[in-house]
Amino acid sequence: MVKLKGFQKLTLTDQALQTWFNVLQLGKPNVVEVSLQEALHLVLAEDLVALEDLPRFDKSAMDGYAVKSADLFGASQSKPVVLQLTQSDQLDAKQANPVWTGNPIPKGADAVVMLEHTQTRGGELEVWSQLTPWANISKVGEDTTKGTVVAKAGTRLNPYHIGLAAALGYIQLKVAQKPKVAILPTGNELAELGTERAPNQIYDSNKVMVSAMCQELGAETVDLGLAKDNTEEIAQKIQRALKTCDAVITTGGTSVGGLDLVPDAVNGLGKPGVIVHGVALRPAMPTAVAMLESKPVLILSGNPVAAIIGFEVFGRPLICRMLGMSQTEPRPIVNATLTKRVTSALGRKTYVRVRVSLKADKLTAEPVSAKGSGSISTMTQSNGYIIVPENREGVSEGETVIVHMFGSLEVA
Ligand code: AMP
Ligand code: MG
Repeated sequence: MVKLKGFQKLTLTDQALQTWFNVLQLGKPNVVEVSLQEALHLVLAEDLVALEDLPRFDKSAMDGYAVKSADLFGASQSKPVVLQLTQSDQLDAKQANPVWTGNPIPKGADAVVMLEHTQTRGGELEVWSQLTPWANISKVGEDTTKGTVVAKAGTRLNPYHIGLAAALGYIQLKVAQKPKVAILPTGNELAELGTERAPNQIYDSNKVMVSAMCQELGAETVDLGLAKDNTEEIAQKIQRALKTCDAVITTGGTSVGGLDLVPDAVNGLGKPGVIVHGVALRPAMPTAVAMLESKPVLILSGNPVAAIIGFEVFGRPLICRMLGMSQTEPRPIVNATLTKRVTSALGRKTYVRVRVSLKADKLTAEPVSAKGSGSISTMTQSNGYIIVPENREGVSEGETVIVHMFGSLEVA
């Protein structure tokens, strides 16, 4: 806990997440079956098991001839070995059978000689190189064997998992049903996109952005419109969403200002309501986590950058859990040299946006202006963040940092 003006106490970030999850007790996701064509980026709900050996027969890895390796002992360019060509699927001594890459190997053969090392003469084949047993043959089960778990439940399916599943004969896969997340931005200053704004209004950018962040992780989102800074309206919209959705995410109205009503609105709807409000996290200090009707409610700051970091810290782990993953899917990480000192407050976990570039085989991380910490464009100018722990007051120039990447590396 950390003392703070405004908030009576701040909860440490990891503790806040842990407390929320302990209360939530999320169960396993519902299972749905999808075709391989629809499976990309969905999350396996059951272990994917090899139904058969792969390859399912010994197969040639080359265009050439199936032979008995012992027959080629001593073969060389100056002393070729002569074999009889045959089409029989049973090879006898001193015989060769033409095979293309991927063809089954005839019985009796234990190697494939490359086409380039041979020459045909009538019904005979001259071979110039010797081979070790099983040369140029992919053996049964070399790739995977029947019964092997080739991908565990909780794995997010990439194109290679889908290819492997197809090779094993699957046409459908059991995946986690997408959790349904309702999104509700709050604030008197907000106007819906595409509507007329009063001079003192701004467009609501959080709804589409938070929706996109949820969708990127594999959730389905539900648009609850906008709510004014009005406890009743906020409560009504959240209550309605809880009837049909698995989770609710709000933005705005969660600091300690006069119009910061979302935590109160949530608490008015039932128990336990808000579990943690105020996190020792920068940005995103006013984040609150809650539970209503056994469902998670995540209360994010209205400031778009704070909403992004709040979502990164609480929303991302939540959706990963709801998809049945045993841990939060980590961002890809790289080590880079920090180009400029960054400062942070002792006692807060601080997320610093950086732009990582690759130049002459070296990775550097340049902090992206801390001045406009609320500016959404700092997120599009950066491609990763570093996390400065609570026990540090900054990171020096030249230090090696771990960067969590959310965008592509800049290659100079
Ligand atoms: P709040 O968390 O309600 O105090 O909001 C902080 C600031 O974030 C507001 O003054 C707005 O500038 C901005 N903001 C709040 N909600 C949104 C939203 N839905 N879209 C874009 N900006 C927002
Ligand atoms: Mg507000």
